[in-house]
Amino acid sequence: MFFWKMRGIQDVYSATKKVVDLWSYDSKTVLYSSSIGALVFPVSLGLIQHIVFRTISIANGHLLAPVLGLAAVGLSGCASAIAVTEASYRLRVKQPNYYYWQDEPAIFKLPKPYILDDKDWKLLAAYFIGTVIVFKVFRGRFASVLPSTVKSPGAFANEGIVGSHRYAHKSQRQKIVQIGQKFGCHTCGRKWFIKSFIADHQPPLSLSRNNKTKKYLLGLLRYPKVQQKLYPQCVRCSLKQQKHLQSPGNYSEVVSHASSLRIYHLFLPLPYIWAFLQDVLNHL
Ligand SMILES: [Zn+2]
Repeated sequence: MFFWKMRGIQDVYSATKKVVDLWSYDSKTVLYSSSIGALVFPVSLGLIQHIVFRTISIANGHLLAPVLGLAAVGLSGCASAIAVTEASYRLRVKQPNYYYWQDEPAIFKLPKPYILDDKDWKLLAAYFIGTVIVFKVFRGRFASVLPSTVKSPGAFANEGIVGSHRYAHKSQRQKIVQIGQKFGCHTCGRKWFIKSFIADHQPPLSLSRNNKTKKYLLGLLRYPKVQQKLYPQCVRCSLKQQKHLQSPGNYSEVVSHASSLRIYHLFLPLPYIWAFLQDVLNHL
């Protein structure tokens, strides 16, 4: 049993070494096209956020936000995978005499999933699922790829503290600054070059005060009490919130945050990983 395991590990090791030796020959192409894919992923997510979600005013607090976010992540992953494949074909350096010991590696036969026949759909589905898994492994939340709204906890609202209907006191404000430095503004996600974070009440104080006056529905049922929470917010988003609450018709409640990048915006070059695994399996 142990011997079999050793053999198995040795086989994987020697196959991987062979493949790595072969691959290192075209490392520049792999590097450049992977960089293009890594760029396409957040750009595509940002475009979907601006063009689709912002236009139809669906934000991160929406009931369907997790499902829509998952779709956006998966589709952006497919777009990136296609970009990687296309770039790898265009940047490739031809080395016909190099493959002396075997067939061409799978990397040089990467399928271009644009024609959309049966196989392409399967491959695109694999890229879609692969991207969604990677996004989750990096602890991304699907709803957070949708824009924020100033009327509820934003796309970057990770940690908040329990507040009251009064303004935050000093120790609460200090804690909020610490959370802000770690997670950024809960609405737009910015955290660099921001000197101070404001303790933002959610739901906004003016809205919950309005609700306080109508404690009873039809004089009988008590409205459920809304728990107030405090989140760090930057001055720019705080102003947007004020403007919207004062004049909802003139100022939108939706704030997009396409340029606030996090670790889960990292795209792994899935076409190469797919080709690499295929080579290792073929050479076992
Ligand atoms: Zn902000």
